Amino acid sequence: MTYRRYELLKDLAPIMVDKALIVSNIGFPSQEVYDIQDSPKNFYMLGSMGLSSSIGLGLAQSLVNEDDPQTVISIDGDGSVLMNLGTLSTIGNYGPKNYILLLVDNGAYGSTGDQPTHTSGRTDLAGMARAAGIESVHVTHNEGTKAVLEQCMQTDGPHVIVAKVAPGSPKLKPIPMDPGYIRDRFKLAIK
Ligand SMILES: [Mg+2]
Repeated sequence: MTYRRYELLKDLAPIMVDKALIVSNIGFPSQEVYDIQDSPKNFYMLGSMGLSSSIGLGLAQSLVNEDDPQTVISIDGDGSVLMNLGTLSTIGNYGPKNYILLLVDNGAYGSTGDQPTHTSGRTDLAGMARAAGIESVHVTHNEGTKAVLEQCMQTDGPHVIVAKVAPGSPKLKPIPMDPGYIRDRFKLAIK
């Protein structure tokens, strides 16, 4: 079976939701994470395309010096990382050990109608991540992502997983929480 992002996230939810702090990307990715398994430890980033990886990175940095730092997983997309490519070099130079970028690469701007991105052409985000200085970079497909994520959660990062999926999304309702509530709930859940 070829996964779309929804099937991928459904497969990964049992190992990551409530077990890591999740920062999910604007649009359909956040709606899908919410639909599959809501948790106060999920931060649905509803306002800033391109910045899910950066927000998660800063959060992981703020926690990394604690005794047993929580893992932070940024769930980002190919279109978003392409519009904030500097994030890869920031992760390459400053990425803390408790940070994972789960880059769901469907080769499309999924939340605006599946227009193709450059990863459906000649651009290789895993290669760009490696060239940016990130040592632990993995390319995965379908059910293969789960074991790689599990391994990354148990070892020091920063890690980047480029999970290749097909474009397309189920029809879901918007998340019925306002951003301020999501923020406050998340802040309480971190402590
Ligand atoms: Mg995409």
